Amino acid sequence: MGARAVDVPALVDSARAGTPRAVARLVSLVEDAHPALREVMAALVPHAGRAWVIGLTGAPGVGKSTSTSLLISAFRGRGLRVGVLAVDPSSPFSGGALLGDRIRMQDRPHDPGVYIRSLATRGHLGGLSAATPQAIRVLDAAGFDVVLVETVGVGQSEVEIAGLADTSVVLLAPGMGDGIQAAKAGILEIGDVFVVNKADHPGAEATVHDLRRMVSLAERAAPGGWRPPVVRTAALQRVGLDRLMQALDKHRAHLDETGELCRRRERRAADEIEQLALERLRTRLEAVEGQDGLGALSAALAAGRIDPYAAVDVLLAHADR
Ligand code: GDP
Repeated sequence: MGARAVDVPALVDSARAGTPRAVARLVSLVEDAHPALREVMAALVPHAGRAWVIGLTGAPGVGKSTSTSLLISAFRGRGLRVGVLAVDPSSPFSGGALLGDRIRMQDRPHDPGVYIRSLATRGHLGGLSAATPQAIRVLDAAGFDVVLVETVGVGQSEVEIAGLADTSVVLLAPGMGDGIQAAKAGILEIGDVFVVNKADHPGAEATVHDLRRMVSLAERAAPGGWRPPVVRTAALQRVGLDRLMQALDKHRAHLDETGELCRRRERRAADEIEQLALERLRTRLEAVEGQDGLGALSAALAAGRIDPYAAVDVLLAHADR
């Protein structure tokens, strides 16, 4: 389907009027890195920037989906519209297509104030870290007050995607990830709020203690600013949600009061521009053919006929054409 087949202004109007099918179509355009995306983003940007983006990350099974359902209820209780993006960078086949299906929606199957979507990527060279900010913008501009971005795992790409949020929540469960593991995975740096879920399980207290110690050690390295709270919950039993909401609200107030919200969003914007620039550059370099193309240059370098820097010069000469 070509770019001309998409009526972007109509689609954007319809998404902003709250039509779930239009929102879904826009997210699909993001996933496909569709040629119309440029026009879509230009139309969305003036309407974006209002949503509170909250990232939730943690290893499989810690209770992200269960907690997300509770957070949806809590924000709906405040009369806010909630969009959820479920992202699974660890799954190369589904590209994240399964996670969202597990968030229990039977509570409110026809609630127009909630939109849940798994995010995959078929088109972006930059993968999910390029697609996620655009998908967030779709939900933001469509008028969702809160956008929850759920990522599975605690690897580098999850940390990157969690870093897209205004507020990053890191979930752990007793016995699944103690403070040391958290530090290794780099999640101490990204967590604004830590949740030790499954507080009904043995060892929850020790995990909380462990994490608090790690957080205060990390704080000593970077003094001042925000001290990430460690909140205990039992999502299945609906225990601790108030504490979690309080911690989120406190962080939101901190973001607003200190100007950190703007700084984070500018950092996010810088990442997005860089990703798209690299994507475009790579596409152009891959398209170079003949003796200046990567294939010919590789053969020349392997045969000792050109040095690698000279090869880069030849290739990059095509970059801004
Ligand atoms: P996710 O993979 O991180 O999204 O985790 P899920 O939300 O799917 O939860 C994994 C399993 O743990 C499910 O069977 C949940 O019912 C269960 N679970 C979630 N929260 C709790 C909790 O606080 N206590 C207990 N005992 N089980 C929980």
